[in-house]
Amino acid sequence: MIPYGRQDIQPPDIEAVLEVLHSDFLTQGPMVPRFERAVANKVGAGHALAVNSATSALHIACLALGLGEGDWLWTSPVTFVASANCGRYCGARVDFVDIDPRTYNLCPEVLEKKLSEAEKAGRLPKVLVAVHLCGQPCDMQAIHALGQRYGFRIIEDASHAIGGKYQREYIGSGRYSDITVFSFHPVKIITTAEGGMALTNDETLATRMNLLRSHGVTRDPELMTQEADGPWYYQQVELGFNYRMTELQAALGVTQLERLDDYVATRNRLAERYDALLAELPVITPWQHADSYSGRHLYVIRLDLEAIWTSHCQVFEALRERGIGVNLHYIPVHTQPYYRALGFTPGDFPEAERYYAEAISLPLYPTMTEAQQDEVVKALRQSLEAA
Ligand SMILES: *Cc1c(COP(=O)(O)O)cnc(C)c1O
Repeated sequence: MIPYGRQDIQPPDIEAVLEVLHSDFLTQGPMVPRFERAVANKVGAGHALAVNSATSALHIACLALGLGEGDWLWTSPVTFVASANCGRYCGARVDFVDIDPRTYNLCPEVLEKKLSEAEKAGRLPKVLVAVHLCGQPCDMQAIHALGQRYGFRIIEDASHAIGGKYQREYIGSGRYSDITVFSFHPVKIITTAEGGMALTNDETLATRMNLLRSHGVTRDPELMTQEADGPWYYQQVELGFNYRMTELQAALGVTQLERLDDYVATRNRLAERYDALLAELPVITPWQHADSYSGRHLYVIRLDLEAIWTSHCQVFEALRERGIGVNLHYIPVHTQPYYRALGFTPGDFPEAERYYAEAISLPLYPTMTEAQQDEVVKALRQSLEAA
């Protein structure tokens, strides 16, 4: 089976993790701050907070931005459920903004229209989660301008997008958002097994997220709200969680990060090779915005269903039967049972649903060989022909 994604673990990764195992600290040592500084320096962010998953990072990002009961969080329906769930964790209501049919990211024009209606109804969002699907950045300049006009805060869910660029700057620089979140799950671009990070240029947000990831407890006298009893004293100033990353994970992250640019370059080279190999087939290959350099976490094709005699489901199954680990990213979040129970129904976001009816993620990972890629293309050609 050729998987749709796969981590790359090299000898320096293993050595780095072993070194931590032999050291004094398995958690709360020097490696997490080192990984944080390395990522912050790489992408040009002021502050970075490593946590145990991107889901945790999204949660504390929402809390730091003050999201709570009675507020709205908006995001794209074509994303992993975590981009929406973070709003629900905070007791907020969630709504979606339909996608742009070319980029599959949330569409700024649809957003603008929805905002002007929401303003009249008095239910503007407090937080917008902009998801860089497949690694291609959203139109952040347009989204940021709308944020200024309508007063919402912006989280970039860049789980797919570390190492990519928007307007020639690394994603995570925070030029057009309040907080950016990365995921280090093994299928993503670099890995710490499980892991995530929240980046911001706002010191107040960084301080809040730092408290929230570790029980809301501090030893910093400046953050204490009542007087210290003695030198042993720590204080819980709000309700936080244990979302900490371990030293083992951070060590892995440091060595993985050194290969980030190579990984993204290889992903882009393979993606462009797919584009060329698939040019004659009845599929739509991923359109790329000229202002962006995608992290290329996923390579999603859309079937031209009018041009073929077989169904989306049949093509998907035929590929799996031929040993190609295809996947579908994503089932529109609003059609999940949990979200239907909150009042959403199929038909609510037609572009997202059209995308879902045609999309297939082909295997793409940095150690994929051209021979494997040729095998994928051959299997796809056969699967499209099968009736
Ligand atoms: C993977 C992913 C997440 C969650 O990441 P975890 O690190 O597994 O919690 C969130 N959003 C998107 C878009 C993702 O792809």
